[in-house]
Amino acid sequence: MRPAREARSLLPWSRRRRGDAPDVCVDRHAPIVQYRDVAELVADLELPVPFDVNELCSAVGKRRGKAIEVMPYPGEVVAKADLADVALPYGLFSPGVHVDGIFYDPRLSSEHREHVILHELGHVVCRHQPAGEEPSEGVLRRATFHDDQERAAESFAYLVAERAHARGGLDAEPVAPEYRDVLGRYAQLED
Ligand SMILES: [Zn+2]
Repeated sequence: MRPAREARSLLPWSRRRRGDAPDVCVDRHAPIVQYRDVAELVADLELPVPFDVNELCSAVGKRRGKAIEVMPYPGEVVAKADLADVALPYGLFSPGVHVDGIFYDPRLSSEHREHVILHELGHVVCRHQPAGEEPSEGVLRRATFHDDQERAAESFAYLVAERAHARGGLDAEPVAPEYRDVLGRYAQLED
């Protein structure tokens, strides 16, 4: 255990230095839930160029010292849900002892999939603590979060996508209008 190093690795995204004006981000362990704090965190986040959500997840995993594995739902889970006519969540965060899993529905469009993965990654980067876990489809553990943390994770996903795809160039894809609307709604909730 190297507590000092671990403490530093909890907030590798911030350029904040000792002596900067204190604000809510100074508590390095508090979950980030306020829109403005999420926006600041996203502005400081190093994004892969060209943008790749899997690469971002693996970089975040490396920096915090606990890997993040991004996977589609196992085929049998999808088949079982189909058979039972149950709608799977688009994605879920499945905390593990050594590795945290982010699962997504493989039938999503690539744009929607990216959003779903970014949302779950948002919980990690914003240091959200699951409010509980519910067994999902037998093999997965689904972390549940409080509403303010859900809003923050949504904001994170939209803001990262906006930054990632606003670079211009051939790889840029505009954020879908319906995503912008939802982001606007979340922003309304903040003071
Ligand atoms: Zn969530």
